[in-house]
Amino acid sequence: MRPKIDVRSESMYECFECMGRTTDPDVRICPDCGGELRHIGRPRDV
Ligand SMILES: [Zn+2]
Repeated sequence: MRPKIDVRSESMYECFECMGRTTDPDVRICPDCGGELRHIGRPRDV
């Protein structure tokens, strides 16, 4: 079982501060440290 990242239509965000990842957050704020999240997901509807 390998850690395959299955990015479909979900928006995945990664925290600048703690590198934690959040999928489809309500706001672009890390729930753990309150840091800024950057978008790393790739929606196909671009
Ligand atoms: Zn964080």
